[in-house]
Amino acid sequence: MKQFGVIGLGRFGITVARALAKKGFQVIAVDSDEEKVRIASEFATVAVQLDATDTTSLQKVGLKDVDAAIVAVGEDISASILVTMICKDFGIPMVISKATDPLQGKILAKIGADRVVFPERDMGEKLAESLASPGIFDYISVSKDYSIVELSAPTTFCGKTIGEVNLRAKYGVTLIAIKHKVPGIDERGEPTFTEDIIIAPTSKDEIATGDTLVLLGKVKDVEKLKKII
Ligand code: ATP
Repeated sequence: MKQFGVIGLGRFGITVARALAKKGFQVIAVDSDEEKVRIASEFATVAVQLDATDTTSLQKVGLKDVDAAIVAVGEDISASILVTMICKDFGIPMVISKATDPLQGKILAKIGADRVVFPERDMGEKLAESLASPGIFDYISVSKDYSIVELSAPTTFCGKTIGEVNLRAKYGVTLIAIKHKVPGIDERGEPTFTEDIIIAPTSKDEIATGDTLVLLGKVKDVEKLKKII
């Protein structure tokens, strides 16, 4: 029976852990947050609250013996590096580390991650495929709690960067794409607009007048944001 370790139970980590457990694999799930561990204890073989940068704690919980470890401790790159290195030092044959940007990805690969995943970018690319075909969101499976919506960027957001608007921290929703109207002129000299889609925008990307925001979030958070907008 294959055994997996999931380190860091944010949305990505907990989703992976739950899916593996559902497939019948043994899952050791760890996080420093008590509540996250409590949630994971409902489906994981072992769920333990610990600081994953502490080698001894990871060893005690049996992480050394897993077939694969998923490192998803969040945006703190130093923690991701340290935990990835500890896992490789344990001799875990497959260490998969989550990165949020290409630089993080390069660093994690360099220090030994066997595979680096970019869930937000990958999700964005998937979405782009669906946006490029008719029937936009039809094939994206969104759970009963989560929805993907398109909203016209409110004027208060225009001219601001994604970092400044900070949708995730303020409203709990993730911006997965921006649809941007690019003005042009056709062969008859008439003004035209083509649509440019920025997938997985970075915090430095700016929201312009006329943009459409494609957002992923809990239904209640999205509804709350819609009202504010
Ligand atoms: P997402 O929620 O989309 O996956 P994310 O990768 O930024 O985003 P977070 O929501 O920040 O992830 O979740 C990271 C998880 O890792 C949190 O639950 C946090 O408690 C846990 N974590 C961070 N550092 C450590 C650590 N040193 N030891 C154990 N758990 C940690």
